[in-house]
Amino acid sequence: ISKGFRAARERLTGKGELSEDVVDAALKDVRLSLLEADVEFRTVKKFLRDVKQRALGEEVQLVAKGKDKKKVRVRPEDHFVQICHEALVDLMGPVDTSLARANKGITGIMMVGLQGSGKTTTTGKLARKLQREGHSVMLVAADVYRPAAIHQLQVLGERLGVPVFAAPGANPVDICRDATEEASIKGVDFVIYDTAGRLTVDDALMAELENIQSSVHPANIFLVIDAMIGQDAVQTAKAFDERLDLTGVILTKLDGDARGGAALSIKATTGKPIKFLGMGEGLDKLDEFRPEGLAGRILGMGDLVGLMNDFQEVVDEEKAAADAEKMLGGGFGMDDFLQQIKTIQSMGSMRDLMDKMPLGSLFGGDIPDEVLEQAADDNELVKIEAMINSMTKKERADPELFLDESARSSVPAHAKLTRRKKRPRKPKAPDQLGPEDFIESRVQRVARGCGH
Ligand code: GDP
Ligand code: MG
Repeated sequence: ISKGFRAARERLTGKGELSEDVVDAALKDVRLSLLEADVEFRTVKKFLRDVKQRALGEEVQLVAKGKDKKKVRVRPEDHFVQICHEALVDLMGPVDTSLARANKGITGIMMVGLQGSGKTTTTGKLARKLQREGHSVMLVAADVYRPAAIHQLQVLGERLGVPVFAAPGANPVDICRDATEEASIKGVDFVIYDTAGRLTVDDALMAELENIQSSVHPANIFLVIDAMIGQDAVQTAKAFDERLDLTGVILTKLDGDARGGAALSIKATTGKPIKFLGMGEGLDKLDEFRPEGLAGRILGMGDLVGLMNDFQEVVDEEKAAADAEKMLGGGFGMDDFLQQIKTIQSMGSMRDLMDKMPLGSLFGGDIPDEVLEQAADDNELVKIEAMINSMTKKERADPELFLDESARSSVPAHAKLTRRKKRPRKPKAPDQLGPEDFIESRVQRVARGCGH
């Protein structure tokens, strides 16, 4: 949770209601938090006005809580968080992650943006997505200024098994037109034009892109923006939006430190919907835009509110309430955990999530570092899942049994997965196996089909 936002929350804790003074003070902290997250200041102002209006205008809701479903007053600080979250989601919405389709013939997707923003990478990601949906795709190398750029696209095309249209030395406008013609002859569904970028917006580039646009009339023109450029994103988006008929924005490199406030500013200044988020270099790292996830990230509070909303969407409300009760009551078992891992895998960073969930009791105190580290790498979730899958029913209900079996297992005795609080771990000698080796061996066993 970011400093500014936490301060705002703390300021409201213990206050009976959201009075104007209290809200104003809290909003000062939120303002700081948003500016830190790269939200442009005019957008921040608009947001704060919106939140204030809602905070002062709304009656604090009563919600059902506890076993007897007694109506309980939401605490003002929670209500405030909810309001901020909703206001952010509203600012970034409405959600529209659809691809426009041409009325007839091939559908064009033109990728534009500054050099290094991720156009070529995202071209590959979109091609993969479309391919998985059963469409035929052709890529067009319209960035002719750097030979490496053409090669990069050809490598992607080869990996995906997608044809790449290239004509080194030719004019990009001609290339796009010829490629479109060839695609129509071949009966391809989608053509993605990977255009050139510059380090900064310049007139020659814009003129070239305009010419491509009016030559091939792509149904989609996506501006690709690197989230790491922060506040500069607004100027960049404005410049492209003025010259081209952008249909959407793709924000990349959100797997890094960027909090993603740029998305909010881009939506607010251009009115163009955010379509996708780039979450890594891999071709599968393309998420459809969900404002809830990004709102939590901008507020620096993970996606707890969104998470709860998502739970309600994917699970039913009663199940969500039951889970919450179980978690708080300590009766939350490995099976529940596994169920939730599966449900949540696509909902954001697992590490964020683990921090939010009271999972310590599962592991006899704190969550072992090994588990946290693995959770930080979402690919490692597969391992955690396999580990839990390898547990017997009994072990799942009582993970201590699993820990004890690790002590008796065929893995050398020093490879025990110890309970941290009760038996402090001794420093590992360099030649010893660690608990991760035990988990690995269990995973291997399951993989060999001799699990439970
Ligand atoms: P282009 O010049 O706009 O075509 O940009 P590229 O597609 O060549 O990407 C520039 C660099 O950013 C490459 O090293 C990519 O691997 C990297 N990149 C692109 N998208 C992402 C992303 O979502 N996350 C991360 N971490 N890197 C990305
Ligand atoms: Mg490129």
